[in-house]
Amino acid sequence: MKENTISKQLSKATASLEAAGIDTARLDAEVLLAYVLNSRRLALYVHVAQELTDEQIKRYENLILRRLERIPVAYLVGHKEFMGLNFAVTPDVLIPRPDTEVLAQGVIEHLQDFSGRAIEIADIGTGSGAICISILKFLDNAIADAVDVSAKALDIARFNAEKFNVTDRINFYEGSLFEPLAGKKFDVVISNPPYVLSGDMDNLQPEISTEPRIALDGGADGLDFYRQIIDAAPNFLNDDGFLAVEVGANQADAVVKLINETGAFSYTQVWKDLANIERVVAAWKK
Ligand code: SAM
Ligand code: GLN
Repeated sequence: MKENTISKQLSKATASLEAAGIDTARLDAEVLLAYVLNSRRLALYVHVAQELTDEQIKRYENLILRRLERIPVAYLVGHKEFMGLNFAVTPDVLIPRPDTEVLAQGVIEHLQDFSGRAIEIADIGTGSGAICISILKFLDNAIADAVDVSAKALDIARFNAEKFNVTDRINFYEGSLFEPLAGKKFDVVISNPPYVLSGDMDNLQPEISTEPRIALDGGADGLDFYRQIIDAAPNFLNDDGFLAVEVGANQADAVVKLINETGAFSYTQVWKDLANIERVVAAWKK
């Protein structure tokens, strides 16, 4: 059997990824080969006997070598699907996680019946823009201010806003937390802040350690950003407005406690992800 067929190349790549302990070996091998061939993953199965050119094999082998260095597939192919939309990503942004869809989805559900005027949203730490751009895509009457300290992340978020045709409904600000939004009020403040404990930063899964450190490090107890966001949010919320933040596993109780301590919110809700982990804390302003 020929060495240069789709089928042979896939098995070879899968074997080397498996040998390196990558548990999504076959899937990754397929996604990367589909990327090289500019085709859909499932199309590979229809053409298993197709022969690759030397050039294609070289590109594929290169990608597999980089995957063996634990670079995430999303960075290798340059995009990641979130809420059914294909967001551009680079190593300058956190790769949007499926768990984070709970935040986007929950906010969309709570705002579905909002009418009369535009819904104003603030997204603190927007990264690729995935959360707030997908909310804008699903809610025609929403507009957003998105903040990040990383100028490079904002470039990607701007690119995504253009890609999904929402540039006229979103403004981007480079700065820390609420600082660029002084004096403004919103109906919703959303954030997926860095929440990994500083002490865990050196023991991250190898793929996660290729992501920007400033996107992950949440300080000694992982709660640094929640303290600041929860303290400031009431000043930036309209009456009846709400705050919705993603939290790490086991952080929901501590975050609810921080919210209650402000005395500025009337009630909270905790939304779970598909693994039944408490993933989002939402709090309504008094
Ligand atoms: N919202 C994106 C998502 O959910 O995929 C990215 C979330 S990532 C966990 C946190 C983001 O917060 C990063 O883009 C990081 O650059 C940004 N960030 C870190 N410190 C910040 C600060 N002081 N002010 C604003 N953004 C900050
Ligand atoms: N969800 C990320 C992880 O997989 C952490 C993102 C964050 O700090 N907000 O660890």
